[in-house]
Formats: sequence, C-alpha cells, structure tokens
Amino acid sequence: MAKADRIIALEEHFLIPSVRERYTGYHAIRAHQPVEKLLDLGALRLKDMDAAGIDLQVLSLVQPGAQAFDPAAGAEVARQSNDALHEAVRAHSDRFAGFAAIPTSDPKAAADELERTVTRYGFKGAMINGMTDGAFLDDKRFWPILERAQALDVPLYLHPAIPDPRVIEAYYAGILKGDYPVLMGAVWGFGVETATHAIRLVLGGVFDAFPKLDIILGHLGETIPFALWRLHWTVNHMTGRTDFADIFRDRFHITTSGNFSQPALACTIAEMGIDRVLFSVDWPYNSNVEGVKFVNAARLSTEERQKILSGNAARLLRL
Ligand code: ZN
Repeated sequence: MAKADRIIALEEHFLIPSVRERYTGYHAIRAHQPVEKLLDLGALRLKDMDAAGIDLQVLSLVQPGAQAFDPAAGAEVARQSNDALHEAVRAHSDRFAGFAAIPTSDPKAAADELERTVTRYGFKGAMINGMTDGAFLDDKRFWPILERAQALDVPLYLHPAIPDPRVIEAYYAGILKGDYPVLMGAVWGFGVETATHAIRLVLGGVFDAFPKLDIILGHLGETIPFALWRLHWTVNHMTGRTDFADIFRDRFHITTSGNFSQPALACTIAEMGIDRVLFSVDWPYNSNVEGVKFVNAARLSTEERQKILSGNAARLLRL
C-alpha cells in the first residue's frame, strides 16, 4: 500500500492555562486527563505527530470551549484562546491550522469573532461544543452564527460537551466513578448529545435557510450513519419530510476522531460516500499512531485512503 502524500487531522485539541482556570465543576480538567499534552503547542505535540506521520493538525480549544460561559466570560475565553492559537499557527504554519472558539451566548459577537479569526488569522472554521444556555444551534437566536459561517464559506464542527444538568440527572446519575457520572461523557452521553444536535439542525430547518452551510461531526458521525436509514424513514413517516438523508449526506462531513472501528468506518463510508469521511484522532485523548494505523489497515484503494487522510480535508478547508 502506497503511503499517503499528506496526513491532516482536524479534531485535535489544546488548552491554555488562563482558560483551564475557568473550567470548573464537571468541566474541570481532571487529573487523569492528558493535561501536559493539551497545554503543549510546540515540541511535545509535534513529536507525537511525527511519530505517526501526521503533517498537519487543525487545532481547537478543548471542550466546553466558550459555550459554557456568559457573554462577557465567553468573549474573553474565545479571544484568549484564539490569540494563543494564532501565535502557534504563525510559529508552525506548515504543521498547525486553527478552528476558532466563539462565544455563542452572544450570537452576534460569536459571528464577529468567527469573521475576525477567519479573515485576520486564516482560521478554517469554528468548533462548537454542545449546548449554549440549554439550547442547540437550531434555536433561531443562534442563526446569525450559521448565516456568517455560510457567508464566510467555512464549516462548523459540532463537538460534544458535558450534557445539560437536567439530562445528567435524569439519564446518567447513579452509575458513578467517585462523584463523576460514568455515562455522561465519551462513554455514551457525548454521542447522544452531539447526534441530537445534528439531527435537530436538519429538522429545525437550518439547511432550508442556509443551504450551503457545512457541518463536521467527529467520532464517525456520533452513531448517525448506523441509524440513518431508520432516521430518514421515520422522519418521513412522521413529518412528511422526504429529504433527511439527502441533507445529511450533502451538508455533513464526518471524521474518524476517537472511533477506530473498521466496521463503523465501513458503515460510514457506505452511508456517506468516500468524499465525506476525513481523518482525525481526537488527540491527546486518542493516539496519533493508532489513528493512522487504523486508516492504513482499512480495506481501501490508495485513492480512497488518500481522500480520507487528507484529500477531503484539503478540499473542505482549502488547505
Ligand atoms: Zn474531541
């Protein structure tokens, strides 16, 4: 199998000390997390990329990003994070690119921060982590953000975050490690939350209003490819809407972040098509080496593998 000529990863996280201090409660970065790697925007990160042959990371502030904050704090978190990321990208422009953090609790300010970072810093879009003020992006108060992303022709990456407290209490309480509900995060709750977010965008009419808006989902689509036939059929049956699967295949891209399953990859490619699947790791929560090994072990032609490892990302993000 020929080596891909470039490897691009786009759900790769970082943190800066001033933002870490603001992550409290369930959002706190806990001792078991790879804090040293998250805080590194240089040698340690590059060494780990080199070990796997990853050429470029598109970096994003680790969840919850600016979504967990009121407008004033969110604006500070976003600006500090984006300015630090811009410095890192400037220092290593051949190895790093950026997704913006945007303060969604003030949608107009979030749209402006997206525009500032795309036009002045060359960022490739924004990463949005779960709910803001207990609402998803299909809520019309957030549509100025969606409108601006479409106008700037940059994608929004929908990333998981710790679910709403009402959901944690009703769904995830009682199965605990210490005081931490085991099911609320990457084990299960993240996927439920983010799949719900994506489905709500389609059913909430977002793509009727913004037909060119691009959305990225990680973790091999947060289970949606596996559920797509049933979603499509049932939505049609209940609402008369006949285009759920068409919109999902047309407006969403899916990355391999944190889900290195060959059957799940095969399902995702079968439902979405090879042009919609993009390599990612979810570093430092998953291993760069394991992620690359996973794609290299998939039953794909050289051309298909190349599309996943960098071709599709290069086209979508103009890299
Ligand atoms: Zn992630």
